[in-house]
Amino acid sequence: MKRPIIISGPCSAETEEQTIITCKKLAETQKVNILRAGIWKPRTSPESFEGVGELGLIWLETVKRITGLPIAVEVANAEHAHKALSYGVDYVWIGARTTVNPFNVKEIATALKGSQVKVLIKNPINPDLSLWIGAIERIAHTRGIENIWLVHRGFSACGYSEYRNVPLWHLIFDIRRQFPEIKMICDPSHICGNRERLFKISQTAADLNYDGLMIESHICPDAAWSDANQQITPDELHRLLDSIKWRDAKNENSIFEYSLSKFRSEIDQIDSDLFELLSRRMKLAEEIGRIKLTCNVSIYQEQRWKNIVERIISRAKRLNLSEAFIRSILDAVHSESINRQNEVMNNI
Ligand code: PEP
Ligand code: MN
Repeated sequence: MKRPIIISGPCSAETEEQTIITCKKLAETQKVNILRAGIWKPRTSPESFEGVGELGLIWLETVKRITGLPIAVEVANAEHAHKALSYGVDYVWIGARTTVNPFNVKEIATALKGSQVKVLIKNPINPDLSLWIGAIERIAHTRGIENIWLVHRGFSACGYSEYRNVPLWHLIFDIRRQFPEIKMICDPSHICGNRERLFKISQTAADLNYDGLMIESHICPDAAWSDANQQITPDELHRLLDSIKWRDAKNENSIFEYSLSKFRSEIDQIDSDLFELLSRRMKLAEEIGRIKLTCNVSIYQEQRWKNIVERIISRAKRLNLSEAFIRSILDAVHSESINRQNEVMNNI
């Protein structure tokens, strides 16, 4: 049975009492391997609580002594990194707002040189994998840093989203393909932004074979000075962790393989048919482009597109497909269709 890495602790260390009691209770669950607390908080608004600073490191030293568990804090610049090392912090994490900034990542890497500290790199706030990869490379090329883990905390969405930060799971598959040896931790707290969906996202991470979870916990979540909506008590965390089912990465059993193979060959056939059909559809889009060119009519025909979307969406229930899924497929088809007409009409 897989033993996931569980990192938990308050979003922010607020007072000595809150930090120590929360962390003690988390240690008592015997499910948490690493205790976290933010002491320098990168807040969007300057009016928000920006952390207790170095004082929090003194509290965390006590926490480490009492619980025997390793400690993690966020560092956003060289000064933070030096201070964290001087208080014996075991893990530092680079937050989403810092991963986007190569200057900060570089100065943190230089400050951590030769230290043997373990570094967690959160995904950047925007869905730009090259920034994440740049940060990984800057840290990985630093002498003395051998242990790098990645933390998936979701990405800023533009417009309405049910999440505080949309997960965009497919980007994580991409990054794991590129760095298969690096552990991937999911941070459901910052993806969800509330308590209600923590289980769903945690279970999805377990189903996708993540190596662990980072979940914020506070002794009295509603009174938290930062991220109050998404924190849960240590007892709630204990129950949440008990209810998550971790899966095996593989099963070599031939019955398992045999039971899948029948469905997999059917899926392979459907995928081939789907793409044959899409190819035919794009050829038709090109024909339409030629006619529009002759008649000098614009590519985008709002009413026609509206009709297509409405017609397919009205069949969503019968097809047992969600409206969001249908819309995302249609958007991809429409964009490609526009590209193909553009090529024909503008001789690109
Ligand atoms: C945090 O973990 O408290 C935090 C600030 O996270 P992020 O960088 O993911 O916003
Ligand atoms: Mn937080």
